Amino acid sequence: MTASTSTVVPTVSPAGAVRPGAFGNAVALSCRECGAAQELGALYACPECFGPLEVAYDTDVRVTRADIAAGPQSLWRYQPLLPVPTDVATFRGLDPGMTRLVRADHLARELGIRTLWVKDDSGNPTHSFKDRVVAVALTAARELGFRVLACPSTGNLANATAAAAARAGIRSVVLVPKDLERPKVLTTAVYGGVLVAVDGTYDDVNRLASEIAGEQEDWAFVNVNVRPYYAEGSKTLAFEVAEQLGWRLPEQVVVPVASGSQLTKIDKGFGELGRLGLVEPTPYRVFGAQAAGCSPVATAYSQGHDVVRPVRPDTIAKSLAIGNPADGPYVLDVARRTGGAVESVTDDEIREGIRLLARTEGIFAETAGGVTVATLKKLLESGQLDPDAETVVYNTGDGLKTLDAIADRVGPSATIPPTYDAFERAVEREGLA
Ligand SMILES: *Cc1c(COP(=O)(O)O)cnc(C)c1O
Ligand SMILES: [Zn+2]
Repeated sequence: MTASTSTVVPTVSPAGAVRPGAFGNAVALSCRECGAAQELGALYACPECFGPLEVAYDTDVRVTRADIAAGPQSLWRYQPLLPVPTDVATFRGLDPGMTRLVRADHLARELGIRTLWVKDDSGNPTHSFKDRVVAVALTAARELGFRVLACPSTGNLANATAAAAARAGIRSVVLVPKDLERPKVLTTAVYGGVLVAVDGTYDDVNRLASEIAGEQEDWAFVNVNVRPYYAEGSKTLAFEVAEQLGWRLPEQVVVPVASGSQLTKIDKGFGELGRLGLVEPTPYRVFGAQAAGCSPVATAYSQGHDVVRPVRPDTIAKSLAIGNPADGPYVLDVARRTGGAVESVTDDEIREGIRLLARTEGIFAETAGGVTVATLKKLLESGQLDPDAETVVYNTGDGLKTLDAIADRVGPSATIPPTYDAFERAVEREGLA
């Protein structure tokens, strides 16, 4: 990849040429397998080898901490490090990001780890980290002249896509497996776009979406034909953590894995910060978390394989239920290169993980967060995580979206008639006070 400050004008676009600077400091799409560079456009597979493409940047870019600190209170403060134009914050979008990083001392004490933080991405506009990736994909879709924002989704992406499209004033079409959690169906449908429930697994829905993307030339499928841009949004999970820690990298992170994109981009984000001199390039270890009912990457990791064998998902962690994860092999690379691991936890452990985080830190996570917290616990117990190293766990979604997961485990401590007498008896009976 040669450094360049010239403006690259993409040619692959439903609307023809795009405006100069449409992709900020991004200069090309480069193949993760063979390294061949392509012009920026609506392209996601390498024409040479069919490998996945990722966004490459001008290597001469200079960004300071002060520039970033002076930016908006959203992920657009990292505009110079994303494939988006300098005026991105002036367009109508949900402007997600800058979610809180919570010091989790009570959870740390309970688990026997010294310094623990929760990056709580349930605080985004549609209550999951997917708002980040959709924000960048929407920008690319707009710059490339697409007229419809679409996606196949395990739930949260449907929420984020429908809401962002509504705010941007464009049409949305989202496809979901029909057994999706009811709250995620309703919190998508309310935005008024087209919502299609498909009788199949997410992997079936994904295949169908690729087929539709081939036919509908002015539809941007956020995680299919504009996937390289979408994926870059996850880097902001790394940028924010580093900035919130006072511009340094954590020593260990635990990240949930569905397609694996988020985990690989958190690693990419930490690497870029080091190269740009925004942080000391200190070593960090990346750990992946999966549900045992859909753990193709954890299985490959534990067996020492480089290829990820697809599985048929069966877990309460539906937002992570991708049986054939596109970035699975790259997750293995990152985990092995950084000295991390990929682990999986059972549905019961996931439910306990949700309750543990809620009870100790007052944070109610969806099942994906339960996976991450339960994996943190398991990695500590097995000695894979260093209890003395500063650790960040990512909570990527809100528990209100997956209430069924804990519905039969929690409820009122007592149900009583409205008298003091009854209350007192209940206190004695249930040991309430
Ligand atoms: C989609 C999703 C993930 C994982 O995303 P990938 O980038 O596909 O690995 C994690 N958590 C939640 C809540 C999600 O919705
Ligand atoms: Zn290639």
